Amino acid sequence: MAVKKTAKAAKTKYAIGIDLGGTNVVMVLVSQDGKLKSDRRFPTEAEKGPEYVISKMAANALEIIKEAGLKVSDVKCIGIGAPGPLDSRKGIVLVAPNLPGWKNIKLKAILEKKTGIKTGVENDANCAVYAEKWMGAAKSFDNVVGFTLGTGVGGGIIIDGKLIRGASNTAGELGHTIIEMNGRQCGCGNKGCLEAYASASAIANTAKEKIKAGSKSMITEMVKGDLNKITSKTVYEALLNNDKTASEVWQYFAESLASGIAAALNSLNPQAVVIAGGVINAGDRLFVPLKKETAKRSFTAPFNAAKILPAKLGEFAGAIGAAGVVLNEGDYYGIK
Ligand SMILES: [Zn+2]
Repeated sequence: MAVKKTAKAAKTKYAIGIDLGGTNVVMVLVSQDGKLKSDRRFPTEAEKGPEYVISKMAANALEIIKEAGLKVSDVKCIGIGAPGPLDSRKGIVLVAPNLPGWKNIKLKAILEKKTGIKTGVENDANCAVYAEKWMGAAKSFDNVVGFTLGTGVGGGIIIDGKLIRGASNTAGELGHTIIEMNGRQCGCGNKGCLEAYASASAIANTAKEKIKAGSKSMITEMVKGDLNKITSKTVYEALLNNDKTASEVWQYFAESLASGIAAALNSLNPQAVVIAGGVINAGDRLFVPLKKETAKRSFTAPFNAAKILPAKLGEFAGAIGAAGVVLNEGDYYGIK
């Protein structure tokens, strides 16, 4: 009997991770030790409302299990990375600006009912950072902070191997660290947040401001005079062509991000800072000035203790991290 019991306990369990975005849903099936078994991606079709989106996620979850030759009982849990604000303990999405009709949606309860699998819901940026600590760039570290740069700037904090949630489960909003007290208007309603200077849209805005103020740049020609068409990519292409204005915009972006990183280094003293998002493809063009500017703005000891690293898991990070955090910190989500 004892032998049989041991064999049963050793059987590999799996988890499903879901990254619920406004445009696409990314889903992964991973083993409990983090190995990616399969993945899929499908359009969210958010305009069809929450009931439809949740049913579609449930159907895909059951399909991905079946396709892998597994049974529902082989899957320990589903983790969902969802846009905030949300009540992660209860698994309720409070509001989601990019998902029409999502107000006080009991995502955990509905998905559990449709799949029969225990589910946890976590902030999407927390999931992306957790993934890099679990299986990605910061795998060998227990004290990690991460910044995800996209339309906005997300953040996540992991201390002693655990995701930090704080008193009301909203910790880790590093994108709303105020780096200019009376600075640019941020989407959150406040002024001078890191997000207003270091997101992809902020890079475009800095370029637009400079050109409007009279700076000459090849960017103007690249967008045929329509400054609203400037993106972070336009700025980067001009930078590669040695455009002076683009290089000033890029330097300002690096200094802004460095200010946010320095604040995190001084307060949390992590071993690693992971940067995620399309801008990391710039490689040394980003990381060389970023490290230099961060060193200027932080204490020497925490700067020397931290590696500043590009993320590794790309578009799968959110889904892998959702699976990982719900697998490893199940108690928090009410999963035994
Ligand atoms: Zn803000």
